[in-house]
Amino acid sequence: MSRPRALVIGGSLGGLFAANLLRTIGWDAVVFERARGDLAGRGAGLGARDELFEVMRRVGAGVGNAALGDAVGARVISRQCRDILGNIVHEVPQQAIATAWDRVYQPMREALPDEFYRSGMQLERHEASGDRVAAIFADGSREEGDLLIGADGLYSTVRAQAFPEEKPVYSGYVAWRFVVTEKDIPEALHDQAFSRMIFSFPRGELAFAIPMPPSDDGARQTKHRAQCVWFRPVDFATELPLLCTDAKGVRHGVSIPPPLIRSDLIAELREIAGATLAPHLAAFVRGAEQPILQPVFDLASKHMVRGRVALVGDSASVVRPHVATGVTKAALDAQALADALLANDDIDAALARYDRERPPFGARLVERGRWIGADIGRDKPAVELTPEPGKRLDALLRGYGAAGVIEGEPVLPARGRP
Ligand SMILES: Cc1cc2nc3c(=O)[nH]c(=O)nc-3n(C[C@H](O)[C@H](O)[C@H](O)COP(=O)(O)OP(=O)(O)OC[C@H]3O[C@@H](n4cnc5c(N)ncnc54)[C@H](O)[C@@H]3O)c2cc1C
Repeated sequence: MSRPRALVIGGSLGGLFAANLLRTIGWDAVVFERARGDLAGRGAGLGARDELFEVMRRVGAGVGNAALGDAVGARVISRQCRDILGNIVHEVPQQAIATAWDRVYQPMREALPDEFYRSGMQLERHEASGDRVAAIFADGSREEGDLLIGADGLYSTVRAQAFPEEKPVYSGYVAWRFVVTEKDIPEALHDQAFSRMIFSFPRGELAFAIPMPPSDDGARQTKHRAQCVWFRPVDFATELPLLCTDAKGVRHGVSIPPPLIRSDLIAELREIAGATLAPHLAAFVRGAEQPILQPVFDLASKHMVRGRVALVGDSASVVRPHVATGVTKAALDAQALADALLANDDIDAALARYDRERPPFGARLVERGRWIGADIGRDKPAVELTPEPGKRLDALLRGYGAAGVIEGEPVLPARGRP
């Protein structure tokens, strides 16, 4: 009997997890990615979970070794909030793991043989007929398989066709990201910035910094990296298009390639950071070579399967970045799909199981993201900077990320519950 064939649309992390996992259970899985070239330079820092590294190990992707100093995960020892003068207002010993896009993408990409990864292939639409499904690409070519997996992200073409009713909702704010190495910020800040999460809560905004593992560039020119993410309210219709307009006046829609972000915007951000953020975080904004701008959306899909089409990662549901779990969720979605297919010879029964199990998980993460982001907005009162347990600040420091949600029960102080 020939092996069942999966067409995986999107060759970022969700697609790589899906294709690698399906290949381990005996499927023929091929990735079709619209971008040409390597995606390793795309992302920045990522909050992570041990579950992510477990899935990487399962497909044979290297996760390094902490004792040798090349682990893909960096440990964070505590979370602290600092005021505008830099004083610690509150600190909790809650630990976390952080990684970096390049440190997950590279081993996952290397795990998939090149003949199963096809770049420059943009899906236009799919056609379903009984137990077969076909993908039609922009170059006119057509591929057929037993299953089509939408791993094509936030603006998913697969979701738009299979679930036209499911649309990501803009949160009302954007994320600015600033990645630094030790040469970019004052030495006096290194110890704190490369071992702890540091938060700042200007009124209606939220900013934090988190360590990252060094890049795996072989040369090891830097020992440390860290990133600051600064969430700021931005009106979708009137302000976002201006942020996404380059120096020549060209409008890029709702996102913009980082090198085209205007220098006057960067200068303005540096000035505002100096006036409103803790000095530790303002140093990131001043020191980072190239800020990245991303509008924040979310979407809790009720279903992730229609016929022989299944969604994983951001194509399935979109979680606000505060939960630091989009990549772990993509890995766990792909793993749940592979496990369901492994347990059932009947593909439709496996897909029905996947569709029952996964949407509630995405919905819990989406809920956590909304709870964390609830203070971000121009009309929102400032988060009270008091260290008492049970108050919003304490709950935010402890609840930032996905602690408890993946295990099942949200671990939040009673008064901080969503
Ligand atoms: C500011 C910010 C911070 C974040 N921080 C974290 C964090 O700390 N931790 C974490 O885990 N997650 C984080 N995330 C979320 C994380 O980046 C996403 O959840 C993750 O990238 C989803 O992966 P994906 O493969 O599903 O989608 P994507 O990474 O979006 O990939 C989709 C792929 O599909 C391709 N594609 C799209 N359309 C087509 C088409 N028609 N045909 C073929 N290919 C197509 C795209 O080119 C792309 O390569 C953050 C997100 C943001 C915005």
